[in-house]
Amino acid sequence: MNTAYDAAIIGGSSAGLSAALTLGRFGRPTIVFDNGTPRNKPAAHAHNFFTRDGVPPSELLRIAREQLVPYPSVELQPLTIASAEKTAEGFVLTAASGERISARRIIIATGVKDTLPGIAGMQELWGNAVFHCPYCHGWEVKGEPVAIISNGDNAWHYAMMVSKLNKDLVFLTNGPSTLSAEQTEKFKRKGFSIIETPITSLQREGEGIRISFTDGSSIQKKAAYYRSEKLHFQNELAKQLGCQLSEAGSIVVNAMYETTVPGVFAAGDISHDGLHQVAVAASGGHTAAAACNSQLCAEDFEAEA
Ligand SMILES: Cc1cc2nc3c(=O)[nH]c(=O)nc-3n(C[C@H](O)[C@H](O)[C@H](O)COP(=O)(O)OP(=O)(O)OC[C@H]3O[C@@H](n4cnc5c(N)ncnc54)[C@H](O)[C@@H]3O)c2cc1C
Repeated sequence: MNTAYDAAIIGGSSAGLSAALTLGRFGRPTIVFDNGTPRNKPAAHAHNFFTRDGVPPSELLRIAREQLVPYPSVELQPLTIASAEKTAEGFVLTAASGERISARRIIIATGVKDTLPGIAGMQELWGNAVFHCPYCHGWEVKGEPVAIISNGDNAWHYAMMVSKLNKDLVFLTNGPSTLSAEQTEKFKRKGFSIIETPITSLQREGEGIRISFTDGSSIQKKAAYYRSEKLHFQNELAKQLGCQLSEAGSIVVNAMYETTVPGVFAAGDISHDGLHQVAVAASGGHTAAAACNSQLCAEDFEAEA
């Protein structure tokens, strides 16, 4: 590992590797740090990505890393970055293992973590029979009976989206329903049922799942949907650098993915509260890298005789 780079990227998944490709193709000395926990790691397949629909997430990243090989100025390091500081020349990153490197610019692509409820079996089925997003896995369970573990306006949003693909829907509010009377009435008219009894466990059963409740009853469905009530934005480095955050915790960026701290860029799920998808992350990584490279080109051009 050298110690001085034009750009350091923290997070080597869809956003980070896309940024690395753009910087590598300009011959920029670039280092990518990644500790191997991309958000979609539990899923067997990644869908809805141009040219690669249905590829396992690990394969998508393998291809991305392979396509960086022709660009020798890009270096990949499987290290966790623990801290980041601004210096007179640029930035210094310190790995959890103690290594320190400096870089003229940094791109934070650390992603988000989902927070799952403490229901037995949830963690094991997450990404394979419990899905969060119909764009990612809706087609795979199209027309099947599915459960939606959700309450209130979140359940209403799911109903609008998922009912386009599935008609047999049961809403599991896992406690008292917070749907309005009007929403409940609409669900009834559409033939959706609502179960308020708290859930005890989710288990694989054949090609589907069995969902059990505290009163001893259970139901069998093909799959379930669940969306984290609160995402954990991995924004610790951005906080250390003084970047502005949104209320939800994402890093505030401009149209070119630069944060409120000049020279610090952020891309991928960490950089917005909205549509978290591989394609969106890759696009953000490319844009951030292009903006970062453009700043460096201007600096280099001015400095040269
Ligand atoms: C179960 C599930 C299935 C999904 N399926 C799909 C799908 O089919 N299609 C789709 O388009 N989207 C899907 N998504 C959404 C998709 O996973 C995200 O939009 C995408 O991964 C975002 O990419 P990213 O690069 O921003 O972050 P991530 O992919 O989460 O990558 C962040 C990387 O940063 C690394 N990292 C974090 N902090 C540090 C640190 N301090 N030091 C070093 N490394 C660090 C992590 O190890 C990780 O590799 C799914 C999400 C989930 C939860």
